[in-house]
Amino acid sequence: MMQDKATILDAFANIIGSQYVLTDPSDTQLYQQDWRGRYQGAAVAVLMPGSTQEVAALVKECARHGVAIVPQGGNTGLVGGAIAPADHPAVLLNVSRMNRVRHVDANNNSLTVEAGCILANVREVADEHQRQFPMLLGSVGSCQVGGLISTNAGGTGVLRYGNMRELVLGVEAVLPDGRIWDGLRGLRKDNSGYDLKQLFIGAEGTLGIVTAAVLKLFPRLTVSATAMMAIRSVQDAVSLLRFMQDQLGNRIEAFEIMSREQIEIVTTYGHDIQSPIDLDEPWYILTEIADSAPQWNAAAELEHVLEAAFERDLLTNAVVATDVAKADRIWALRHNISEANKTAGFTISNDTSVPVSRLPQFIERVSQRINDQIEAVTLCNAGHIGDGNIHVIAVLSRDHYTTPEHCEEAAARVNLIVHEASVELGGSISAEHGIGKMHVARLERFKPELDLEMMRTIKRAFDPLNLMNPGKIFLASGQPAAEHAAPLARTPCA
Ligand SMILES: Cc1cc2nc3c(=O)[nH]c(=O)nc-3n(C[C@H](O)[C@H](O)[C@H](O)COP(=O)(O)OP(=O)(O)OC[C@H]3O[C@@H](n4cnc5c(N)ncnc54)[C@H](O)[C@@H]3O)c2cc1C
Repeated sequence: MMQDKATILDAFANIIGSQYVLTDPSDTQLYQQDWRGRYQGAAVAVLMPGSTQEVAALVKECARHGVAIVPQGGNTGLVGGAIAPADHPAVLLNVSRMNRVRHVDANNNSLTVEAGCILANVREVADEHQRQFPMLLGSVGSCQVGGLISTNAGGTGVLRYGNMRELVLGVEAVLPDGRIWDGLRGLRKDNSGYDLKQLFIGAEGTLGIVTAAVLKLFPRLTVSATAMMAIRSVQDAVSLLRFMQDQLGNRIEAFEIMSREQIEIVTTYGHDIQSPIDLDEPWYILTEIADSAPQWNAAAELEHVLEAAFERDLLTNAVVATDVAKADRIWALRHNISEANKTAGFTISNDTSVPVSRLPQFIERVSQRINDQIEAVTLCNAGHIGDGNIHVIAVLSRDHYTTPEHCEEAAARVNLIVHEASVELGGSISAEHGIGKMHVARLERFKPELDLEMMRTIKRAFDPLNLMNPGKIFLASGQPAAEHAAPLARTPCA
């Protein structure tokens, strides 16, 4: 238990300087609320260390006083993972000041950066060295390396490069007892025992604090072409992807799907965003192909492949962007979804995955159940069809859902429908956003018991005092496990 708050805050100030121990609500509010505005944290202070050694000293101090630590980066997470609990004395440990590039090794195609580096800056540094770091998502200007690693972020590049798990060569982390683990190795092959860095990737800050990482770089792309295509069904999207992969190999940089309803919300509520194509089909694909070989004519190749797809009746209309500005306008449709939906109504966004081949069945099943069971809802879909991760997004009308309780009750019903359908089809309840605070009870309900037991064993081994981000991934002690009490039978894959 936290004994003397003033004494502990003094101890923190002695380590990092009082200007980096924020306690005034006007200073802390920015950090205490999540990006969607759904969760309000109750941290006694926001700590902003400037180095790994300072993080280690703060963690030791917290362990000594039984204060829980919630690591935080850009606070763009979508599942309430970086929000401090109210039932336990806790601090937010924000790593934003740790934003140095420690080393660029262009010949090893690797970059060593601190956890507080913003993704956009990492991409710029790679570019300055004629390399690219391919992670790309809507929060590129705010999310940080430590957060990307801790959520095992995905984004639009997973089809070609994999998610964060595949883009990290090494990790440096402060363990819950304050020791510093130096796993900053830039190796692509290392079979000397367990791959410990992988434990921190996707751990959502429950096993320690990521302070730096070695990231994988790739040859810089020099030619690219972007297109937007109209298609009739999700099944056509799956067939079109397969056809394009047969024609273009791994030069497909992104292959994203959006439903017509989703595009209409973005063009209505986004700032000056228009569709370059008539919206007369139910589904649209946004794709980019790219290569590092400058002699490759990407635009001609894309046009050729799209013509062939049109002849096979896989699409009904398409536009190819002829310059970067037009390509950016197409991608603005995709990258402004979260912002536009937030304005359009109370948004319930799901982040499930199923095998790509089962996506048509999944969308049909979910759409039918939501439209049958939920009132005053606009159902949208958008996501990374190439990796089986379509976000089912229900936008609730603010005229109909007038109280937070009414919204939350509908959100719970929508989420259950989506989670059940994904598990029925052999999928996961979280593809890329993580579990955070939002899905803890659901994880207990849907994850097999042996998986949970192994996860709890790892958590106990690293953090026996349960001070690292308590209540995230795992239920907090004392938290009702209502969903756990009546587990849903795992239906066999259809
Ligand atoms: C507009 C928008 C679009 C998005 N699109 C995508 C998308 O396409 N794909 C996708 O995967 N995600 C997406 N996200 C979610 C989010 O941006 C990512 O999850 C991102 O990785 C979070 O990074 P962050 O620095 O903001 O982390 P935070 O939100 O600060 O933290 C996220 C989690 O990581 C933990 N954490 C943070 N830093 C550390 C650290 N140094 N050590 C240990 N734990 C830490 C926190 O405790 C928390 O559990 C989107 C978010 C927004 C707002």
